[in-house]
Amino acid sequence: MSHTVEKQAVVSRILNFSCVDGPGNRLVIFLQGCNFNCLNCHNPHTINYCNDCGDCVEGCPTGALSFGQTSFGQTESQAKKVIWDEAKCTHCDQCVDVCGNKSNPKVKHYTVEQILSIIRKQQFFISGITISGGEATVQLPFIVDLFKAIKSDAGLQHLTCFIDSNGYLSATGWQRVIPYMDGAMIDLKAWQNDTHLWLIGRDNHKVIASIKLLAEAGKLHELRLLHIPGKSDLDSEIDAVAQLIMDLPVDVIVRLNAFQHHGVIGEALTWDKCSEAQMTAFHHALQSRVPHTLQLPRVYM
Ligand code: SF4
Ligand code: SF4
Repeated sequence: MSHTVEKQAVVSRILNFSCVDGPGNRLVIFLQGCNFNCLNCHNPHTINYCNDCGDCVEGCPTGALSFGQTSFGQTESQAKKVIWDEAKCTHCDQCVDVCGNKSNPKVKHYTVEQILSIIRKQQFFISGITISGGEATVQLPFIVDLFKAIKSDAGLQHLTCFIDSNGYLSATGWQRVIPYMDGAMIDLKAWQNDTHLWLIGRDNHKVIASIKLLAEAGKLHELRLLHIPGKSDLDSEIDAVAQLIMDLPVDVIVRLNAFQHHGVIGEALTWDKCSEAQMTAFHHALQSRVPHTLQLPRVYM
């Protein structure tokens, strides 16, 4: 007898409504796992999958974390998975603070059908869904199946399907999802490859190629530029950045993000935040070079 194992997404959070993760009002699914390791990450506990080390179990004040029991046929190491009991969890985030693995025990696994049933409950209140992360595209096969299912469901196909991504996906990967995807939001954090390598831990060639590919396919909804004064280089490389934008359709939104300390850990906490005045200067300089709509940050924390 053969069993087909259904694909499951590893999900760190589902937000029923958001008006900042793509056009309109959206249900957002944040997937666990990322292929970048940004110094400035404001969600570092979404980077890695839990390795079941157990360091967070003892400290949970409500007993929401435990080790699974060995069942018949399992070795102890197979069974010793860290189990999260959502009903007991108060979301104090002590486990997240303790974790030295940039991970999170509070993840859930969903099949496509389970996600569809969550979407069905919200369908009359949303204009679409956005898959975010971590990095959404590290779970690309699940996204392709989910988007396909939405687009072939008579009751859901009016919903738009977006991906919020760091852009580190090959052209082949994008081609798999583009037929079912309405749009993507892509982050660009540095222009010079050396700066990108230092800040993110990977080169930026694939990111820039993704921006161009999505624009040519008519699927680039938003380009996000992160301004970290004195650390990133999007201001000192403004002519090159402007040239990239000039080659994009004029209806692509360019969102300017200001580096802040919220959620950040490690050396990035010692960096200066981007002030409103610094962002205004960056906005001015870029807007004088491109006709696109540049959106400023809503808040500075
Ligand atoms: S969440 Fe972190 S500390 Fe807790 S078991 Fe997983 S890897 Fe270990
Ligand atoms: S967030 Fe939940 S699981 Fe984590 S330590 Fe707090 S109560 Fe325990």
